Amino acid sequence: MIFAVTGGTGFIGRSLVKRLEALGHEVRLVVRRDRSGSKTIVLPQNGGELDPASFADIDGVINLAGESIGQGRWTPERKAQLVASRVGVTGQLARALAKAQEQGARIPKVWINASGTGYYGVHRDKVFTEADGVGQGFLADLCLRWEAGARQNENLGLRVVILRFGVVLAPGGGALAQMAIPFKIGVGGSIGSGRQWMSWIHRDDLITMIERAISDEQMVGAYNACSPQPVTMEQMMNALGKAIGTPSWTRLPAFVARIALGEMADEMLLEGQRCVPERYLALGGQFRYPDVAEALRQIYR
Ligand code: NDP
Repeated sequence: MIFAVTGGTGFIGRSLVKRLEALGHEVRLVVRRDRSGSKTIVLPQNGGELDPASFADIDGVINLAGESIGQGRWTPERKAQLVASRVGVTGQLARALAKAQEQGARIPKVWINASGTGYYGVHRDKVFTEADGVGQGFLADLCLRWEAGARQNENLGLRVVILRFGVVLAPGGGALAQMAIPFKIGVGGSIGSGRQWMSWIHRDDLITMIERAISDEQMVGAYNACSPQPVTMEQMMNALGKAIGTPSWTRLPAFVARIALGEMADEMLLEGQRCVPERYLALGGQFRYPDVAEALRQIYR
């Protein structure tokens, strides 16, 4: 099959593209700037529209694009970038597909879209499944709009699968690279109470889930893409300390995180959400790394 992948140069996308190519699929990276040497679809910037012919031979779209949520304070300008790089890019692609269909051209059959467990907002102890509705806060609103943009493609007859990623763990990047820094200088530990929940997934399991979403026609709608065993921040940090080989012993007070990061501290660090992948498990979906200690041991081995 031929896939158009947005965000294919990122932490998750790079690994996904490798896997798709290893399985014999062809990948067209959907990029902001042309990269010579690989087949790409270039997204026009500054309000330009994508050529509908770009999708003529594409069988599936995998939409991962988005500016990094965890970098920099959420100023109004940064929030606008976070929205535009997700909701804006999703709309640009969807409009091109709609136009292609109007012109009687062949369009892809499946659309797989990233989202996040931030969709549910934050809660101290509730267990969230896909049956729960959207929560409150900037991330919940962003996920809602991003998902709605992807779901537009259902009107064109595409099978749309939304994967609400937990924190993705893998070597060489993502949240783990940032979480590991204090451990490497011997001051690892939790932030705030340490009792906030973290929903997480090993990148290998996430890629297996994407592969399943490509091939399993039963998969439609939203799925929590996280391990069935969410952990508290304290449990995550203890497991990380053991995997790296330095103890988790410090605790950054909540007020310091709030001063440093503002609103982002509450939504991303001090409060969390405890999600389970109920719909994926119901399909018989399995996880190679359901246990965070084992996942982190594998990553730091
Ligand atoms: P990265 O930050 O590593 O990569 C982001 C990707 O998006 C890059 O390929 C980047 O392209 C592309 N991108 C950014 N802005 C734009 C834009 N305006 N137009 C087109 N492409 C753009 O992210 P991850 O791989 O970690 O995450 C992928 C997606 O999954 C993101 O949308 C993220 O929000 C979501 N997610 C990730 C989680 C995680 O733990 N990693 C958790 C929950 C959700 P370029 O090379 O041009 O910069």
